[in-house]
Amino acid sequence: MTPIERIIRAEIAATGPMGVDRFMALALGHAEHGYYITRDPLGRDFTTAPEIHQMFGEMIGVWVAAHWVPGARLVELGPGRGTLAADVLRVLAKAGLAPETWLVETSPALRGEQARRVPTARWAAALEEVPEGPMLLLANEFFDALPVKQYLRSPEGWRERQIGLAQGRLAWGLSGALPLDLGAAPWVETSQAATQILGQLGQRLARHGGAALIIDYGYRAADRPLGPTLQALRAGAPVDPLERAGEADLTWLLDFDGLAAALSGFDCAVETQRAFLGRMGIGQRAAALAAATPGAAGSIADALERLTGLDQMGQLFKVLTVLPRNQGEPAVRGEERA
Ligand code: SAH
Repeated sequence: MTPIERIIRAEIAATGPMGVDRFMALALGHAEHGYYITRDPLGRDFTTAPEIHQMFGEMIGVWVAAHWVPGARLVELGPGRGTLAADVLRVLAKAGLAPETWLVETSPALRGEQARRVPTARWAAALEEVPEGPMLLLANEFFDALPVKQYLRSPEGWRERQIGLAQGRLAWGLSGALPLDLGAAPWVETSQAATQILGQLGQRLARHGGAALIIDYGYRAADRPLGPTLQALRAGAPVDPLERAGEADLTWLLDFDGLAAALSGFDCAVETQRAFLGRMGIGQRAAALAAATPGAAGSIADALERLTGLDQMGQLFKVLTVLPRNQGEPAVRGEERA
C-alpha cells in the first residue's frame, strides 16, 4: 500500500467517504508524499508540449511579446521543469524585454528543475503571493491538475462521486441526493481551486492590465464528453486512479467555454493548439530551424506534427487567450482558426 493510500484510508475511516477533490489534493499535493511533491514526473509518466520542442515556447513568447505591457511581470502557474518560461524569456530578450519572472509552484522537486533553467526567477506557492501589478500570465497543463469535484444527476437529484472503503479497499461510491442546482447536463465537474485562481486572475488583470494564456487538454460545449473526465496516467498509460494512489498523475479535461464564461469581463477566445501555434508562425519557425540545421530537419518535422497534428496535440489541446476588452488579437489567418 502506498503512503498516500494509508493516509486516505485513515481519513475515510475517521470522517467517511471523500470527494474526488480531496482525493486529488492528497494524491497529488500531500506535503510529504504527494505525486508532484516527491518527483519530477515529466517525460516519465507524461510529456508536455514545452518538453517536445523549443518551438512551442517560442510561439508563446511571440504572443507574450505582442501583448506586452510596460512594467509587467511574467507569471507562470505550474511551470514543470521551467522549459516554457526559459523559451519564452529567450524570445522576449530578443525583443529587448527582460521581465521580472514569477513561478507559482508547490513542488520542491520541480522548483529545483526550474531554478536550473530560469536562474533569475522568483517563486510563490500561490498566485496571491505574487506582487500585484500588470502581468502576462501563462498556464500550460496547470488547471487540469487542480482538485475537482464530480456530480452526477440522478432521478432523486444531484449526487457527488466519492471514494470510500468497500471490503477493505478504496472504492467508488455516490453521496445521497444533494440540494444543488447544477444545470441541465447529466454530469458536472467543478473545481473550487480553479474558480478561485480564475477569480484572482481576473481581478488582477482588471486592476493592473496585462493578459493571460491558458493551455490545456479540454473541450468545447459542442463536444462535451459523455461522462466525468478524471483520468490517471502512469508511464504514459491510463491506470485505475484508485490503484497505487500518489504514484500516478491525475488530470481532468477542462471545459473551455466554462473557463471563458468565468472571465466574462475580458476578450476571451478559445481555439485549438493547432490554430494558435499556426497563427503565431510555427510553420515558418520550423522551416527556418530546419534550413539552419538540416541534420535536425526530421526531428523538427516530427515535433511539429506532435504539437499541431489533428490526431496528436493539435486538436485536443485548447488555448484560451484572455485580453482586455477591445484590445484585439494580431491578424488571424481564417482557415487556421478553429
Ligand atoms: N506547465 C508544465 C508542467 C505541467 S504539470 C509543462 O507544461 O511542462 C503541472 C505543474 O503544476 C507541476 O509543475 C506541478 O508541480 C504544478 N502544480 C500542481 N498543483 C499546483 C498548485 N496547487 N499550485 C502550484 N503549482 C501546482
